[in-house]
Amino acid sequence: MTPQANSTASRDIASHLHPYTNLEALAQNGPLVIERGEGIRVFDDEGNPYIEAMSGLWCTSLGWGEERLVEAAARQMRRLGFYHCFTAKVPDVTVDLAERLLALAPVPMSKVFFANSGSEAIDTALKLVWYLNNKRARPEKKKVIARHKAYHGVTIGSASLTGLPLNHRDFDLPIKGVLHTDCPHYYRFAEADESEEDFATRLARNLEKLILDEGPETVAAFFAEPVMGAGGVIVPPATYFQKIQAILKKYDVLLIADEVICGFGRTANMWGSETFSLKPDMMTMAKALSSGYLPISALMVSEEIYTDVREHSATLGTFAHGFTYSGHPVSCAVALETLKIYEERNILGHVRRVSPAFQDMLRRYRDHPLVGEARGVGLVGALELVRDKSTRESFAPADGVGARLVTQAQKNGLIVRALGDSIALSPPLIITEDEISDIARRLGAALDATARWADETG
Ligand code: PLP
Repeated sequence: MTPQANSTASRDIASHLHPYTNLEALAQNGPLVIERGEGIRVFDDEGNPYIEAMSGLWCTSLGWGEERLVEAAARQMRRLGFYHCFTAKVPDVTVDLAERLLALAPVPMSKVFFANSGSEAIDTALKLVWYLNNKRARPEKKKVIARHKAYHGVTIGSASLTGLPLNHRDFDLPIKGVLHTDCPHYYRFAEADESEEDFATRLARNLEKLILDEGPETVAAFFAEPVMGAGGVIVPPATYFQKIQAILKKYDVLLIADEVICGFGRTANMWGSETFSLKPDMMTMAKALSSGYLPISALMVSEEIYTDVREHSATLGTFAHGFTYSGHPVSCAVALETLKIYEERNILGHVRRVSPAFQDMLRRYRDHPLVGEARGVGLVGALELVRDKSTRESFAPADGVGARLVTQAQKNGLIVRALGDSIALSPPLIITEDEISDIARRLGAALDATARWADETG
């Protein structure tokens, strides 16, 4: 529907270059204008409510309208609205947050570096990998490995690590020295009669072969999300990370865990690294760090890494990396308050209580004619839509079946996200069992409407 002249939607079309949007379709139909939020719901400019089953972009863990975060931001703005961390200065609240994060780390970590986005945290990790290996006098050990379907961001380094074709195509990416190995999606990539463990063994072997083919002396680091998010919510098969980590250890390859989605309770543990037994050398986090209320991300590094970075900065004169808003006091104050709320309200305990109902809800759709796989862990999951359940045949990309389901869900007051033909859900961590049932009803109606369309079009 073409938006009315002078509406917010038409002004948006006229003025705003949107991220991650089909710009031609936007120019025709306009955006969904969201005006406000409350709990797990957002409201459009006509007052229609939607259950936001994606927490925005996997981030609004405490839902909308959390007054304590509003107050924390206002208090800090009055006290110190901006200061920086360059040249040995620091806002006090930034130190509080760094300490708090180190206390939460799943393995001993030494220091926290702050940035604004997941992409910046990942780029920082990548630059540290290079910096370190120069310091360690092995300048050839610079290649990094990520996985097909990984999502690590959109800056030049992080987009190179991302393993999704559309993030590379016509952006002249990936950059040299970034390699991709198998995606651990058992449903899609396991061979006939291969067990999950055998699949994991095969993927670890393939990783080893890649490292050997490239030369272990040239491979520096492996980046991995514990659960792959934007690639389709892919939960690793049993024993996968144990086997992968054995290979990384054997060839002295660092592990960087990208906890941007998984961090802070999403998988029913504080970190995805705990759920899937990762022992990272560095880890990134963002999103639920501030419940998405302000941009902030962080990278934690081990003592071994920190020691080398510290020494190298002394040799070179400075550690010449950092963002104007690294450790921004207002973002840090909001993040600290977020972490306090997680603890005081036992959000992790809540996720553990409600996530079985969420996972059962998804798995009940396994019997739906459109659903090939229902997968997930904690409060994140996906339904993969298929043309033929028995052969697992996908729909043609031109069918846009995922997008159709998203539209149907929206008509039913539910916001979900299509990642190809996988429909992702990652609701606010404060969701109740009743609200999960409400999602189920709306999702069911959207699935049925999409199935009718699929039947009619053959
Ligand atoms: N890493 C992961 C796992 C993500 O899911 C994302 C974003 O969704 C990023 C990195 C990039 O974060 P940002 O969009 O804040 O740059």
